[in-house]
Order: sequence, then C-alpha cells, then structure tokens
Amino acid sequence: MTKKRKKIHVSGVVQGVGFRPFIYRLAEKHQLSGWVINHSAGVDIEAEGEAGRLEEFLREIREDPPVLAQIVSIESKDIPPLGEKRFQIKASRRNGNNSTLVAPDIATCNACLEELRNPADRRYGYPFINCTDCGPRYTIIRQLPYDRPFTTMAAFRMCPDCQQEYDIPADRRFHAQPNACPVCGPIVWLEDRNGERQESGAIEKAARLLEEGRILAVKGLGGFHLAVDARNAAAVRELRKRKHRYAKPLAVMCRDEAVADSLAEIGPREMDLLKSPQRPIVLCPKKQPEALVPEISPDNDYYGLMLPYTPLHELLLNAGPCDALVMTSGNISEEPLCRENGEARRRLGHIADYFLMHNRDIYQRIDDSVTRIIGGRLSFIRRSRGFVPRPVLLAKPLPPVLAVGGELKNTFALIRGNQLFTGPHVGDLKNLETLEFYEQAVRHFQQILETTPEIIACDKHPDYLSTRWAENSGKNVVVVQHHHAHVAAVMAEHSLEGPVIGMALDGVGFGEDGSIWGGEVLLATPERYERIGRLRPFLQPGGDAAAKAPWKMAVALGLQAGLKIEWDRLFPEIPEEQINLLEQILRRRVNSPWSSSCGRVFDAFSAVAGLQLEAAYEGQAAMRLEAAISREAAGLPPYRFPVERADNIWEIDYREAISEAISDRLRGKPAAVIARRFHDGLVAALTELAGMAREVYRCRRVVLSGGCFQNCYLTEKLTANLARNGFTVFTAHLLPPNDGGLAAGQAYVAAHRQQKGEHAE
Ligand code: ZN
Ligand code: ZN
Ligand code: FE
Repeated sequence: MTKKRKKIHVSGVVQGVGFRPFIYRLAEKHQLSGWVINHSAGVDIEAEGEAGRLEEFLREIREDPPVLAQIVSIESKDIPPLGEKRFQIKASRRNGNNSTLVAPDIATCNACLEELRNPADRRYGYPFINCTDCGPRYTIIRQLPYDRPFTTMAAFRMCPDCQQEYDIPADRRFHAQPNACPVCGPIVWLEDRNGERQESGAIEKAARLLEEGRILAVKGLGGFHLAVDARNAAAVRELRKRKHRYAKPLAVMCRDEAVADSLAEIGPREMDLLKSPQRPIVLCPKKQPEALVPEISPDNDYYGLMLPYTPLHELLLNAGPCDALVMTSGNISEEPLCRENGEARRRLGHIADYFLMHNRDIYQRIDDSVTRIIGGRLSFIRRSRGFVPRPVLLAKPLPPVLAVGGELKNTFALIRGNQLFTGPHVGDLKNLETLEFYEQAVRHFQQILETTPEIIACDKHPDYLSTRWAENSGKNVVVVQHHHAHVAAVMAEHSLEGPVIGMALDGVGFGEDGSIWGGEVLLATPERYERIGRLRPFLQPGGDAAAKAPWKMAVALGLQAGLKIEWDRLFPEIPEEQINLLEQILRRRVNSPWSSSCGRVFDAFSAVAGLQLEAAYEGQAAMRLEAAISREAAGLPPYRFPVERADNIWEIDYREAISEAISDRLRGKPAAVIARRFHDGLVAALTELAGMAREVYRCRRVVLSGGCFQNCYLTEKLTANLARNGFTVFTAHLLPPNDGGLAAGQAYVAAHRQQKGEHAE
C-alpha cells in the first residue's frame, strides 16, 4: 500500500465553525496522519495516508462540511510523505495573506438546548452555554485569528472541566472559543435603576417582573433589547412612550413554534426561516382576530416574529407565564442600539425599569435581521445578525472598494477579491451617534477583513452624511447614482455583467437631473446605465415629507390628471382648508419638486382606497395596500397605465388609473378591489415597457430592485408575468432589495469602473 501526502488549503468561513475538530475527526476516520492549522488566511492541512482514503477525505471536506462553514475554495497538491504517526491540531499563527472569513452569530443548537434543560447536566440552566456549532462569533471577535485571546471571552479563564472539553478533539466543544460553564464563565444578574444587583434567581425574577408589566432591558448577542409582555397593552404603550417610538411595529419573540403559530399565518417556509440557525425576525400576516394587543403593530397587517436565539432568551421565556415578549432594540428611536453595560445604564435608564445584564462583553453591536418569504424564497428587509459578515460570492475577483451606502437603512459594503461583504444594519444615518457607530463598524470590518480600499463609492446625493464622509476620507471617490446602485446590487448577487433591463422602484433617490427618482427603468451594465423608462413625473408636495402624507399624494396625482374631484367626499377626515391649501401649493409649485417615485404612487392609491391617509413611517401605506389584496377581487380588469414615449423615454402614465380608482372608491368599492386593480395594472405596464425595451435593445434579462420589491404580490406577479413573456428575471435574495442593499450595488459599480480604468461618472 503506497502512502501519499497532500498539502491542502481551505478558504472561506472556516474559523469559529468547528472546522478544525471536523478535520481532525475526518482524519481519524480515514486513518490519516498530519496536521491542521488555523491562520488568518484560512485553514491549512497536511494529510498523509492511503491514496483512496485521502481522496475520500477531500471529498467529504467539500461535500459535508460543518453546518456553519462556508467553503470558498479548496486547493491541494501532492508533497513527499513524512511517515508521521498521528494527526494533530497545531496552534494558530498569523499570516500576511487575507482571505479568512469571520462567522456570524448563531442561535443555540439542539444539543446545547438539551443540556440546558437537563437537570443532571453541569450546564443546566446556564445562560451562556454554547459549542462549536452555535453561539456568539462576529459580536465577540476583536481581531483574527479567531482564538479566545482575541475575543471578549479572553477575560474568563477556563476551569479544568471546560479546558478538557476544549482540548479533546472528539468533544463537541473542542476549540469552541466561547466555551464556558457556571464555574468559570460569564454570569447574569438583575439590576434595578439604582444599581442594586441580584444574582441568584435573576432570570426567574426577571420573568416575574415582565409578568407584572415592567419594562426590562435585556442584554443579548449584539446589543440590548427592551422587553415587555406582548399581551399587556398598558406595558406596550408605556414602552412606546418612553422609547419615543409611537407607531413602527415592534418585534415579538415567541416562546416556541406553537406560540408563533397561534399568532400568525405561518407557512412551512416561514417556519423553516423562524427555526433556522440565523433566527431572523420573519414578517407573517396576523391571524384574525388579532391575538396580541393592537399596540404591537397598529395599522399594520403583519407581525414581526422571532424565536429565542440565545440560551438567556430560552430561559427567560420559559421561566414565567409570558410566552410572547416584545423585543425591540434597546435605544431611543433613531439611535444605534446599546452595547456596553454602562452605556445601557446611561442611555436606557429612563426607559427600562430593570436590567437583565451579564458580563460577557459585546465587541460589535448588531441588530436583528428582518426577513420575509417572497416567491417561496428568503427576502431581506434588513440583513444583519446571523448573516453578517458572510459575503456574497462574485464570479470573478474585483478591485478592493469600500462603499458607504445611502442614508436610510444604511449599511456599508466592501469588496475583497471575489467576495462582496455588507456590514451590519446601521439605520438612518442622520445623527452623530449613528455616524460614530458607522465609523467604528467600518474600521472593525476593514480590520477583520484585513483590507483597506483606496476607492470609496458613494451616492450622488450631496447632503447624505455618508457622501460627505466619503468626500472627507481623502480617498478616490466614485459617485454612483442611487437606482443604478439598486440594480447593480441584484446584478452582483447573480454575478451579472449586463446589459440588463433594470427596474428600480423605490421611495426616493437622487436623480441625475436633481429631481426625485423612484420609478425607473434603466438599461444597465455594472459600469453605466441609461434611463430608458420612468413613471410620469408629478409634483411631490413638501419633498421627502410627502412620504408621511399619502392623502397629499392622492391630491397631487389627481391634480396632475386634471381631475375635478370632490375631495371632501373622498377624504371627509381632512379639513377642507387643508385640501384647498395643498391645491394652491401644488399650483404654485411651492416646495414641490418633480418626482417619479413609485413609493409615492403606492401611497396615493392607498389613500384613495381609504387605507392610510397619514403614514407614521415610509412604506406603511404601501404595505397596507398590498395586504388589502384579497382573492375575492381576482378577475377584475387592471387599472390602465398606458406606456407612452415622451422626451426619448418611455413613461408609465398613472392618470387614467388614479381617476378610475377614485371613482371606484366614490362608488363604494372595497379597498380590496382598488388594491388588486392597482397592482395588476402596474404589473401589466412594467411588462409592456420591458417588451418595448427588448425590441429596441435586444435584451431579455430583467432585474427587479428597490424597496417596492419588498412587496410580495408585486414581486411574485411581475416575475411570473415577465417570465411568461420570455424574460429571465433576477431578484434580490442574498441582499435586501431596499436601501440596505445600496452599498453592495455601489461597490459593484465602482469596482467594475476601476477595473476598466474609468474613475469618473
Ligand atoms: Zn451548541
Ligand atoms: Zn468551566
Ligand atoms: Fe432606494
């Protein structure tokens, strides 16, 4: 029997995911000798043994890696055998090369949950139980390589029992960096506003306080949550008041699947997502009558649900009668969530009655991810915990670029080789606190990715904080138009080189001509675009402020259509003087820029349908319009949105549709009818426009992007319609279609321009 030896290099998410123990066990299984080592460029292996078994070994690495691993590449070559006797795991070393990936934070695995609930286990009821398959990662890592001294667990010295688990290759906790137990690990305590601490029975006491309607700040994986009983109206109202969050829906953590099932319509795919190791918040339609108090998500037809994802959550939800807890980010509205204990005391002291604290530090804050199933597939509304910092893999390597994103739902992005990373959800980049978090996260990202690009991509909007930050960086700035970036984000996800017909439908983006864009059809490549279609422009009263007043958009569109409308009959809630004033503002064009925003057209129809006259947040009216669609309204003719040629561009004209919708409403037709006819009409117009574009440009690939594609009905119906007409359709699944994906698109465009030597617009 001839022995062979191979040198193997594996890159990807291979640290902090139980990869070395996996390799060790695999080597034992195939009677191989040699070693495995972690370093900042990935994992290196030398393995020696019988040739056939070596091949088996390689095949199993490729095909059956640990659940959390994501292999980017495996390179191997033959080297001379050394005749070693055993296989070993060598200590980590540093290396100049940089292709290792940090793993995201992952929910407690089933094996750990079993131990947590087993009175005979030494970690029974221990809120920091974890293993190589689960637990904190990104949030505790200061720098690479991923080893205990470089994490916030460095402060805890393992007891002999833990050390043994850590040292024994066959153990589930072999080299589990956050390994801990009640003897040696972090502790949890309950603290009141005066700093009075209580360690024993802290979780049971916390559960009791929640039952009594108190507001608790609970330290989680990536920051603090504010928790209250989701079935206690007074408590939820009080939380909203103290947090200055009056209308936006609050996320709810359910004890288990059965509780989630009792609250909302949850399909099998939604359930898979709820139970996934990433444990995001999943949007699900409420069951009627509403099971939780209406204060959870007023004027909204969905719940944002999640399941416990840390052992502490698991224990808290099982320690008392509360089986559904509001778990909203621990911050004042519009500020980043709290990360440190002292910071939480300072910033949440006037919101929370008590703090459920612990002493495992969070190094990087990260918000919960928010998702929805669209077309049977995962779609992101916010991509953060559980997914960041996992990259999107590109078909070919591109020059390094940092992209700063937009303003709303900001994230940043970074390209390193063939990997496109997006950073954690930063939020609306409008204030100093958020900017500080942003800068710190960018720094940390560049550090753990060991890449500091010299090219910075940003939006065209001159007043965005992100744009100014890019301009002040002293680096090479590449400006990317908002909707081009939206389309490019989806192109990046599918490694498309173009050209594509890009439909970018959203609320607002800075247009090439300085006007508000948001209903755009672009012929796009990764480097450039041509605007070939748009929604017929209208005057948007008050500019961006119009997003909060759907009724004003209805009046604006009605006026644009030249309609004489009895507004007092349509909107009896709105005082006549206000309507008259608005008409004057529009006629004189006072602070009313031109706009082609698709989001505002959704708002207008939502108001006309009587669903939402005033919106507390952008997108609320559109969500209600989508939710109003019902099966009963099927079979009605869609509203007509004629597509016409104007100024060398195809224009989708909404005038006929808005007047039809208004007469439907005045004739007493239900919202379901208006919602359905509107959506179907828009789908028909977009499909028609795509057909015209195909005739001229010979292009049959369509990309759908922008916040409007968080709309499940629109996305599914348009995708199906286009496919039936012979188009290949690409949508967003790895990144959010909304502004959370903008940075990725900016990076993709800038990197391509750099590659082609085109720096300027
Ligand atoms: Zn585990
Ligand atoms: Zn221990
Ligand atoms: Fe946008």
